[in-house]
Amino acid sequence: MKAVDIAASYAREIGCTVQSDVPMSGYTTFKVGGPSELMITPRNDDELSKIMKKCADVGISPFILGNGSNLVVSDEGLEGVTIFMGARDSLALEGDEEISCAAGVSVSRLCGFALKNNLSGLEFAYGIPGSVGGALYMNAGAYGGEFSHVVTGCEYIGSDGAPKFMKVGDMALSYRRSVFAENGGVITKVFIKLCRGDGDEIRRRMNATLEKRRQKQPLQYPSAGSVFKRPEGCFAGALIEQCGLKGKSIGGAQVSEKHAGFIINTGGATASDVLALIELVKKTVFESTGVLLEQEIKTVGRRREE
Ligand SMILES: Cc1cc2nc3c(=O)[nH]c(=O)nc-3n(C[C@H](O)[C@H](O)[C@H](O)COP(=O)(O)OP(=O)(O)OC[C@H]3O[C@@H](n4cnc5c(N)ncnc54)[C@H](O)[C@@H]3O)c2cc1C
Repeated sequence: MKAVDIAASYAREIGCTVQSDVPMSGYTTFKVGGPSELMITPRNDDELSKIMKKCADVGISPFILGNGSNLVVSDEGLEGVTIFMGARDSLALEGDEEISCAAGVSVSRLCGFALKNNLSGLEFAYGIPGSVGGALYMNAGAYGGEFSHVVTGCEYIGSDGAPKFMKVGDMALSYRRSVFAENGGVITKVFIKLCRGDGDEIRRRMNATLEKRRQKQPLQYPSAGSVFKRPEGCFAGALIEQCGLKGKSIGGAQVSEKHAGFIINTGGATASDVLALIELVKKTVFESTGVLLEQEIKTVGRRREE
């Protein structure tokens, strides 16, 4: 029996939702990507822990899927096991100023919960379309804030299936990076420390953040946000614009006219279109400015044999 079939029958046995050949275009904000060979959705941490252990036993490293808002999945799709974190949705106040939040909760729901409880500190994050687990993994940030400023710790399941706790100081959080990229752990619950504030003022700041996004970003098109990290001392979007690439298209993928740091799906783009455009942008910017752009969005999945 193939390792992936062993994982599938075990996941069914313990009650997880198990799906085969799920098109990833339906699970990513870019709306591109081929099928996930096996998608498992555990209902709770116990099921997740068991699945992680089984995967380790049969030699599979599962891919962890949050809200798919920072991903380009190849047209050939994802081999092996994808674990989808979206099923769990718990949020709670811990004392006066701390929130515990399941990793599958959306960042906007977390921000709404903070607002409802007059807690300030997450205004920067309003409008980031990820899950809280994905936001911690990426140390997502905007407008001078980032998750490292508000997180105190998290619960996670190690790649061996064991539940663990980590304090923020051990997470190696830096610009769009965390230790979870190296240790293979799955973040299950995030603890966030905020401070008491005035509800009207918090709402005003959240709405202002959203307005800035609406004005600057091509939110009416599918995308994965900024494609590249900010290079030292400049902005990727400005460099791309300077190289005359605004509006450049390959198939259905286009460098946004509104914000050159975004690549958008203008309709019917394939992952290959997006990846070819990323390569073209990198090459052109490097040749004309000497700056090597580093990708912020993650490219995952099988690739066609050249
Ligand atoms: C319109 C738009 C605007 C955006 N604006 C911003 C912005 O202002 N700032 C910013 O930082 N980002 C921004 N992004 C990018 C994206 O929303 C963030 O990176 C977000 O944090 C990704 O979360 P996700 O749940 O979608 O992760 P996914 O895209 O599903 O996954 C991203 C990575 O995280 C890993 N991962 C996800 N969940 C877990 C988990 N529970 N445990 C372990 N690993 C996990 C995945 O394996 C993958 O490697 C934007 C995207 C879009 C489309």
